[in-house]
Amino acid sequence: MKNTKDVDEQKLLIRPPYYNDIDAFGRECQECDGLCATSCQEQIIVITEDKTPILNLSKSGCTYCDDCATVCESEVLSTEYKKQIDAEIVISKNNCMSWEGVMCFSCKDPCLEDAIDFQAMFMPTINQEKCTSCGFCISRCPSLAIKIKEFNV
Ligand code: SF4
Ligand code: SF4
Ligand code: SF4
Repeated sequence: MKNTKDVDEQKLLIRPPYYNDIDAFGRECQECDGLCATSCQEQIIVITEDKTPILNLSKSGCTYCDDCATVCESEVLSTEYKKQIDAEIVISKNNCMSWEGVMCFSCKDPCLEDAIDFQAMFMPTINQEKCTSCGFCISRCPSLAIKIKEFNV
C-alpha cells in the first residue's frame, strides 16, 4: 500500500488519471493550450502556472469519462494508461457531524460505488477497497469533513 500525506488543498498536485510518465507534463504541456481542461465536462481540470493540468475536486468529481485523455494530442494523457486517481479520500472524524451524533447522509447519496459505510446510521468511513477517489462526495459535505490525501510519488 502506498504511503499518504496530508496536504493543504492549494498544494495538491493530483494529475488526471491517465498518465504514465509524470515528467511528461513538464516536457509536453507547455506547447499545448490545455485541451484536457477544455474537454472536461465536470470542469475539474485546472491548468497551473507551469501550464500542466491538475484536478480540483472541491466542486465536482471525475467520471473517468476518458475525454481528457482522448483529446491530449501529445499523449501525456492516454486511455492506455487509465488508472485510479492518485489520492485517498477520507472522512475526518473531528469535522464530521455524524461522528458527533447528528444524522447526515449527504456524502452517501452521490457515491455511485456505495463506498461510504455507516455503523448503525452514524460514524461513516470510506471503504478504500470500493472507493475510486472520484471526489464526488467532497463538495456534498456541509461540514467540509471529507479530505484528500495525496499519495507520495
Ligand atoms: S491536453 Fe495533454 S499536453 Fe495538453 S495540457 Fe493536457 S495533458 Fe498537457
Ligand atoms: S476523466 Fe472526464 S471527468 Fe475525469 S478529469 Fe478527465 S475529462 Fe474530467
Ligand atoms: S470519492 Fe470514494 S467515497 Fe467519495 S463518492 Fe467517490 S467513490 Fe464514493
